[in-house]
Formats: sequence, structure tokens, C-alpha cells
Amino acid sequence: MTIAPSIAAESEAAVADSTVTPPTVDPLAWLADAAAVRADAGLHRELLVRQADSPAINLASNDYLGLSGHPDVIAAAQRAAARFGAGSTASRLVVGTTAAHDEFERDIADFLGWPAALCFSSGYLANVGAITALVGRGDLIVSDAGTHASLIDGCRLSRAQVVVVGRGDVDAVAEALRTNAFRRALVVTDSVYSIDGEPAPVAGLYAAAHAAGAALLVDEAHALGVRGPGGRGLVAELGLAGAPGLIVTTVMSKSLGAQGGVVASSTLVREHLIDCARPFIFDTGLNPAAVGAAHAALGILRANPELPQRLRTAAARLAAKCGGHEPAAAVVSLIIGDPHQAVAIAAGCRAEGVLVGCFRPPSVPAGTSRLRLTARADLDDATVDHVADVVNRVRAQVMSA
Ligand code: PMP
Repeated sequence: MTIAPSIAAESEAAVADSTVTPPTVDPLAWLADAAAVRADAGLHRELLVRQADSPAINLASNDYLGLSGHPDVIAAAQRAAARFGAGSTASRLVVGTTAAHDEFERDIADFLGWPAALCFSSGYLANVGAITALVGRGDLIVSDAGTHASLIDGCRLSRAQVVVVGRGDVDAVAEALRTNAFRRALVVTDSVYSIDGEPAPVAGLYAAAHAAGAALLVDEAHALGVRGPGGRGLVAELGLAGAPGLIVTTVMSKSLGAQGGVVASSTLVREHLIDCARPFIFDTGLNPAAVGAAHAALGILRANPELPQRLRTAAARLAAKCGGHEPAAAVVSLIIGDPHQAVAIAAGCRAEGVLVGCFRPPSVPAGTSRLRLTARADLDDATVDHVADVVNRVRAQVMSA
């Protein structure tokens, strides 16, 4: 295409006009002060660069079943990329829905016991998309205080009235639904809380929501592959898969070792999300390689229903050796309190070849900074014992310093 000379000259003049004198005071100078405040409070974060050939024992990941590096999962990612390309090339609504997406969605819906499922680019976006599509202005959300940030952000973006109740407080949920007027209402919770792996009272929350005519959205990110029959999650364990007024979200980035989020639901909810969920509509479809990998991991989970129990046995052994609570899922949470000490212990463990998660505010409430160790199904007893020895020794050194 050629541009008429007069138009080209005008647009050049517009660019010249738009050059402005730089401000004398950097409007982002405040960032240095903010960084100093975070550093003083022990809240500065360094990105840990993981090398491909690192011999470190990794207990900081969410790769619960150890499937992220499984050769069949990696081969499936490669096959999907070869079939459909390195990206999905467009929004799901345009040409970004490949046969890989379609096949996976049918299979995971069937596995979880729902008529339908829809993938998003991440678990974060699945939660934001589902919540914002289901409630809006004039509606009520009752949110459990222990929910993941992606649910919290979905609640904020929805523009609905949000009432936050204490973690796992079923009575407070019922009370909030009784005392606040609403057109539609949605209760949101994690089924297994992400910070400490404790289960939420999902059956009680469902009963309270159902009695008040509210829907319940349950995030099973930390329950898929961990709880329930064959790893089908806590909702399936409670016999609630497919129940009316219930929506399940989960992720492909933890037990399935890949990337992406899933909403499992009725077909009516799925159709509504396709038409109305903004992170579905405006986001490029999830990478085919991630879908292929997650699908292969799901196949491995189906074929090896003992994997979740193996994971939980490793988690129980780790917790017992480190003095943590008996875990209900994969996470062993060791509360340290002070963020500086938590960071020092995590760094000390890293120096000894053991990676552990270190959670500080805002991920956890002030004063409850902690180490978060995630067990994996592929950890043998000797490795668990070695990790526990390292953690116990380093923790004792730091706490007595
Ligand atoms: N829900 C929960 C409970 C999570 O813990 C996480 C991730 N840590 C997410 C959703 C977000 O999932 P993703 O990382 O796939 O975006």
C-alpha cells in the first residue's frame, strides 16, 4: 500500500508535535522509596532462575504428581505443537479452538463428572472469567476469606457487592445470604486452601448456598489429582459432581503438570461463558502444547489412580518429620512468623540443594510468613527424609541465630 504524500507529511508532523520535554521530576521516582520499604519489611522478592540441569530437590512447585517432566507428557506437548503450531493463533472464539482443546475439554469434563468443561489460558483467568460472567452489578458474592487471589480479583472485577466471611465459616455464609438483598448470588471458595492445603467445608457451603438460592463456585486447583476417587477432587469425593447450582474451576498447572485453567459445569454455563466471559473472549486461546500435555497427564492419572494416595503418603511423612500438621492434601505448611527468618531458612535450604516455597504478606496474613513444602507422588522415602533433615537443621540454625 502506498500512502499519499500529503497524508505521510501530516502524520510526520503529528509525530513531531507529540515530542514533549521530559519532566524534570521522574514521576516514577517513588518506586525507589517503595522498594526500600518492602526491603525493610523483608518483602522484597528475588526471582529464582531454575536451570534445566539443576540437581536441586524441588519442593516449591505445584507439580504434585511429578508429571511435568514425564516423557509421555512432554511428547504429547511436542505432538500438539507439531499438529497445530506453537500458538493457538487467535481467540478461542475465532480460530483458536483446536481439536486438542475440544478433545481435552470433553475428557476432563467426563473425568470430573460434569456434562461440559471449558479451558482458559490459566487458572487465574478461569476464575476471573467465570465469576465476572456469572454475577455483576446488583448481585451478591459471598467470598470465603481463605480463597485464592484469582477468586478475589474476579469478585472485585465483577462489580457485584462482595461480602467476605471468615475462612470456612458456613454460618456466616448463610447469614450473609439472609441479610443482604440480591438479584443473584454466588458463593466462592477454594475446596483445598492454597496456602496450607486444608479442606474447606464444601458440603456445608453448598447446603447454605442452595438453601438461599445462591450458586456455589468451588476452585479445585489443589484437589485435582490429590483428593477424591482417582484424584477427581473434593467435590467428587463429596458426591457433588454435577450438582445443580455448582460450578467447579480447576487448573492444568498443578497435578496435570502443564498450564491452563478449566471450568467444569453444565452445558448451559459453558455456553454462557463462551458468550460472556471476557478472559475467554479477549484472550488468545490456550497454547495447544499445554493442552496436549495436560491431556496426556490426565491419561496418566486415569491409568494410575493410586498416584494421589502416593502423593498424600509422601506429604504425611514429610509433615510428620518436619513437625507440621497432618496434611489433608499435598501442602505442608510450616509457620515461621517473621518474613526475614522465613527468607533466611528458604535460602539456607536452597544452599543445601532443597527448594522450598517461602510465603510472605500479601500472600499470607502479617505475622504468619511460612515455608510451604509441596510433596510429590514421585518422591521416595529417602528423599523425603533428606529434605526433612535439611529443613529441620536450617530452621533450627536460623531461629537460634
Ligand atoms: N486457584 C488456586 C487455588 C491457585 O492456587 C492458583 C495458582 N497458584 C490458581 C487458581 C491460578 O492458577 P494458574 O496458576 O493456573 O493461573
